[in-house]
Amino acid sequence: MITAHLVPILSDNYAWLLRCGSTGATAIVDPAEVAPVAAAIDAAGGRLDMILLTHHHGDHIAGTDAIRARYGATVVGARADAHRLPKLDIALAEGDTVSLGAATAQVFETPGHTRGHISFFFPDGNVLLCGDTLFSLGCGRLLEGNAAEMFSSLAKLAVLGPDVLVCCGHEYTASNARFALHADPANPALAAYAAQVTAWRDAGTPSLPSRMADELAANPFLRARTVADLADLRARKDNF
Ligand code: ZN
Ligand code: FE
Repeated sequence: MITAHLVPILSDNYAWLLRCGSTGATAIVDPAEVAPVAAAIDAAGGRLDMILLTHHHGDHIAGTDAIRARYGATVVGARADAHRLPKLDIALAEGDTVSLGAATAQVFETPGHTRGHISFFFPDGNVLLCGDTLFSLGCGRLLEGNAAEMFSSLAKLAVLGPDVLVCCGHEYTASNARFALHADPANPALAAYAAQVTAWRDAGTPSLPSRMADELAANPFLRARTVADLADLRARKDNF
């Protein structure tokens, strides 16, 4: 079974340290800053088998080569973006799988934020690494893709189950909550969850990982019924 622990990096990014409970195999997701990531790996025993990359942005990949050099890990990312990712040892596409110890991740192409964005899902542990595609109470900006792509990417993640742990790339939840309350003011589940987020953040507690059940109930981007609804929400959020 895979467990996921967040590693705060940069100003508001999270890298994720994954560990297979039965073998001790360890991976880091999106290691964009070396010192805090290396400290987390060392604190967990100093073993690193794999580096998983969700997309090519610097705030997700910048520390990859240094971490690889230090621990000798296998670097895994999207085949479609191999030309602009650190050198990949394993290049993946939709429907592929990748193993960490005794666990296997399903790979989903989740374009919208970037063309080559991928997400990893470990059913054994219910761990979803979704980078800048699905955020808690939000979704990534459409920097390279369009609303139709993001709509279908979010739909792929939404069906993974209510108990899925959403391990995304940024602590944007409080800011996302402000827009969500504005966009969907009559949703009691959102009001309750936003209050919980405020309490967590006031206490200095990360809001992640979140549970998919809460996202399905409260995240307006995940609740958009049509591509047009999602496009409208995204455009309003961009100018909020
Ligand atoms: Zn990004
Ligand atoms: Fe990012």
